[in-house]
Amino acid sequence: MFEEINSPVQKIGLAPFNNLFVKRDDLIDPYISGNKWRKLKYILAKAREENKTHLITFGGAYSNHLVATAAAASRSGLKSTAFVRGEEVKNEMLLLCSLFGMKLIFVDRESYKDKHKLFERHFANDKQAFFIDEGGASPQAIPGCAEIISELTETYDHIFCAAGTGTTAAGLLKGIQQHQLNTKLNIIPVLKGGSFIQDEIEKYTPLSDHLELHLDYHFGGYAKTTPELIESIKIFTAKTGLLLDPVYTSKMFYAIVDLQKQGIIGKNDKILAIHTGGLMGLFGMKDKF
Ligand SMILES: *Cc1c(COP(=O)(O)O)cnc(C)c1O
Repeated sequence: MFEEINSPVQKIGLAPFNNLFVKRDDLIDPYISGNKWRKLKYILAKAREENKTHLITFGGAYSNHLVATAAAASRSGLKSTAFVRGEEVKNEMLLLCSLFGMKLIFVDRESYKDKHKLFERHFANDKQAFFIDEGGASPQAIPGCAEIISELTETYDHIFCAAGTGTTAAGLLKGIQQHQLNTKLNIIPVLKGGSFIQDEIEKYTPLSDHLELHLDYHFGGYAKTTPELIESIKIFTAKTGLLLDPVYTSKMFYAIVDLQKQGIIGKNDKILAIHTGGLMGLFGMKDKF
């Protein structure tokens, strides 16, 4: 199921930009969306290599990664179980996980912190169990994300991407280095105090001048929004026909527009924004609109 995909690159008309393109990783799959597909590709290959048939992973109740893992598992004929942070709830995302056959184990926030302990406690006797970290963060996620760069047929002045853990950012930087591109990678951490992303990236690939973090577009922190951010989603979607999620991609596009206003990027610069998917995140915030 992880065959070559080559998600399309589309030019979008958003004034005043003349050369703004979007890599539509959101179109890869409705459920194994965007960068989660990229990350799971080689994680599942490793599970297969080790003859593991039961994927065990972790996430919050609105995690894109959980839905992606559940869908990928069922399509690959694998079992899946997730530890879900917090008290038992029902929502759109967890419904999909269940339909894809994922078993959900709700755990309190304190126990959730030690993921390896949870894994050991529940699956020490399951020889088929395969540990996948929250968000798919792992060395195997890097080559999958680097392939976003390998698929490009043109070069860009700037590439933009939102970051949670920074794993996708690390893969993109690695891809840029491998292909010796002269492209600036602009990363928008969606968490407050996002400079840790730099250390995360450095675990996987050497830092370089190609990388720039923009730390001021977190809108209060992870999964936090402001009326201004919500308004920007409405305007952007009405103008371009592209949907954005409130947690990741909206913060990235807000940053692109704002950096142009500040004169840090030019309206004629050739820019590629990575649409990392995750649109079901909208459902977690429907009352904000
Ligand atoms: C998970 C996710 C990210 C963050 O990816 P990291 O590799 O953790 O930085 C970005 N965008 C979307 C839509 C996501 O679902």
